Amino acid sequence: MRVDPMSWVRDDLKNARGYHVLDAPEGTIKLDAMENPFGLPDSVQASLAEAVASLPLNRYPDPQAKDLRREASRLTGVSPEKLIFGNGSDEILLNLFLATKGTIVAPEPTFSMYRIISGSIQRTFKGFPLRADFSFDPEMLPSVLSGEPPGVLVLASPNNPTGVAYPLKNLFRAAEIARDYGFVTLLDEAYYPFHGESALSGAQGENLLVLRTFSKMGLAGLRLGFLVAPEPVIQLLDVLRLPYNMDSLTQRAAVLLMKEVYPLLEQQVKEICRLREDLFQKMQDIPGVFPVPSRANFILFRVKGVLPSRLFKVLLEKGILVRDVSGHHPLLEGTLRVTVGTSEENACFLKALKEGIAG
Ligand SMILES: *Cc1c(COP(=O)(O)O)cnc(C)c1O
Repeated sequence: MRVDPMSWVRDDLKNARGYHVLDAPEGTIKLDAMENPFGLPDSVQASLAEAVASLPLNRYPDPQAKDLRREASRLTGVSPEKLIFGNGSDEILLNLFLATKGTIVAPEPTFSMYRIISGSIQRTFKGFPLRADFSFDPEMLPSVLSGEPPGVLVLASPNNPTGVAYPLKNLFRAAEIARDYGFVTLLDEAYYPFHGESALSGAQGENLLVLRTFSKMGLAGLRLGFLVAPEPVIQLLDVLRLPYNMDSLTQRAAVLLMKEVYPLLEQQVKEICRLREDLFQKMQDIPGVFPVPSRANFILFRVKGVLPSRLFKVLLEKGILVRDVSGHHPLLEGTLRVTVGTSEENACFLKALKEGIAG
């Protein structure tokens, strides 16, 4: 008897593709993934090594991540019971989407994982378009949400890949409208450090959840994200969270970094913001390049006179990896995204961009 060895697999997964990251050749200037280009000083690397050296790896980690919780609470001013941690904020997105039987809704273009995670667990995802200038109109929500089974409205601000931040009053208004339709609102503040304005400081309603990550400010390799939410939501997510999702190494390293390295990371963030403004000006001066003002650590730019896929290739041949996002959404036609690098990296990028545009 012949049996398809994949007959046990869900049909919708058979031709699906996961989140795709290009594995760049050694020595490539990586400006594709919103990583902090600076890294940590040797002295910090050494104290990290020392801090994790004594961990008893035969034992399970602290399931409640108490030390981590205390430090994150101190840093954010949020009470410890309102926090939950994830292996990257992606894990929290997954658990939150698992918790709903309703529709996941987000204005697009936005972070592609919202759609990918929804699909992977067979939740309905409904995107609706931002305005052509990538701004967000909360008054569109009634027509988008009406008739949908209540689920999660996801808003990223600053948004990826546009770099646009929405005014807090629009975000609060969106959460208010969503609540009227039974939806909870997830505000993804992955780029908060580069913007400096958070919904956490405002009058936060009971249906507004705030997601943060340490990835973009300089600790992408640590895989640490957290959610600030009312206690009933935290308790719900605790049911879905796999036990010991935060390993001992991450917990110990994160506590040390939050206690002793946070001011350094904040300094690096400040420098990245300065470099972003400089890069933006110089990109604007290149004929055929149209950068979008950004509140994050990357810049979306439209190109005229060259196909984005062609420019992407030319840049890669010159040793620079950016992201071609032109096919991700109709509003992104003609665009690519570049992460802010060191001043040397940015200079290399600008030189290659000028050459690539000239053809
Ligand atoms: C990068 C990114 C994340 C994911 O961050 P991790 O904590 O590394 O999983 C979440 N949301 C947005 C908008 C992002 O750009």
